[in-house]
Amino acid sequence: TATEAKNKKESVSVRKPPPILEPPRSGSRSPSSPAVLEREATPELENELDHLSPMERRIKKVMATLHGVDVQQCEQIKNEILVMNEEVHWDDIAGLSRAKSSLKETVVYPFLRPDLFKGLREPIRGMLLFGPPGTGKTMIAKAVATESKSTFFSISASSLLSKYLGESEKLVKALFYLARRLAPSIIFIDEIDSLLTARSDNENESSRRIKTELLIQWSALSSATAQDHGDSDSRVLVLAATNLPWAIDEAARRRFSRRLYIPLPEYETRLYHLKKLMSRQKNGLTDTDFEVIAEMSDGFSGSDITALAKEAAMEPIRDLGDNLVDADFNKIRGVMVKDFEKAMQTIKRSVSPSSLQQYRDWAAGFGSTG
Ligand code: ADP
Repeated sequence: TATEAKNKKESVSVRKPPPILEPPRSGSRSPSSPAVLEREATPELENELDHLSPMERRIKKVMATLHGVDVQQCEQIKNEILVMNEEVHWDDIAGLSRAKSSLKETVVYPFLRPDLFKGLREPIRGMLLFGPPGTGKTMIAKAVATESKSTFFSISASSLLSKYLGESEKLVKALFYLARRLAPSIIFIDEIDSLLTARSDNENESSRRIKTELLIQWSALSSATAQDHGDSDSRVLVLAATNLPWAIDEAARRRFSRRLYIPLPEYETRLYHLKKLMSRQKNGLTDTDFEVIAEMSDGFSGSDITALAKEAAMEPIRDLGDNLVDADFNKIRGVMVKDFEKAMQTIKRSVSPSSLQQYRDWAAGFGSTG
């Protein structure tokens, strides 16, 4: 009912985050402190840490001093959701210069120079990337984490509703806890629409509870900063992606201070992407050839272009037939325009013009400019 909804809403905004407790200093340890804390001071642990990267060292230290959260859930997050060693840089992403510069200003610089971004300039807590599938939303999230030197947590909302169902609430709580302890952090939630969807009759009890927990934890990020006047390390951002932005309910939509449209690549972007892909593959393509292919691939998404280039690159190998087994690697011919023309028969655009219009309309209504 409306009253229930109101109460729920209030409970979301009133509940405070659990404080992040630092381990007690030696001498003041309470009898209930987990035994694992003892390890922190031991030469063995210090020795163990010596061989690790700075990031691995921080994770290990945090994992040895967990407080008020489920240890098992934290282990699971560390193993399955925390992404390590998958660096993506701005240059790896073709085009999207508007999105890149917006993300630099709203996330990357504030995370790198928190001293400059306090008070009114405080970093935002939520950003939504929306647009057709395969346009680089996940890549962008990884690049933001790499370029801002943040800890990157990546989870899809649908896995919260399936793989982790039953433990999702605890998992969400532990996820935000670890993100705060390992800040600066980016929590990337893919397919966010499946969780923040407009309330429907078939919304079941468990998905409602996960959604509520997510909203509580998310609000807690802002109230934690408000309480201590921005002095704590508040650098945690929920970066969410969706191909179905219109499915997100209004209240949830408002929580994303920025909603960035990630569109299909323009001609120049396709050209850059194709050249970049082919730079790692023997080819006989001239500048004009590249222009022809970029023209042909109008309406393709970034992932369609990658698929097209992969398919074209198979043609010289197919030419060899059974001789492939004994073929001299250096004598295999380079990829040519005709290979792309052939590949176009197999790899088609994955986004229809009518759904493209739907994205543009939503961007015009609800997207952020820049
Ligand atoms: P999305 O999250 O928008 O569905 P992804 O970021 O997962 O798309 O992109 C899927 C794949 O498509 C990437 O791994 C990459 O190979 C390619 N791709 C998509 N967009 C771009 C882009 N702008 N620049 C370079 N590669 C891209």
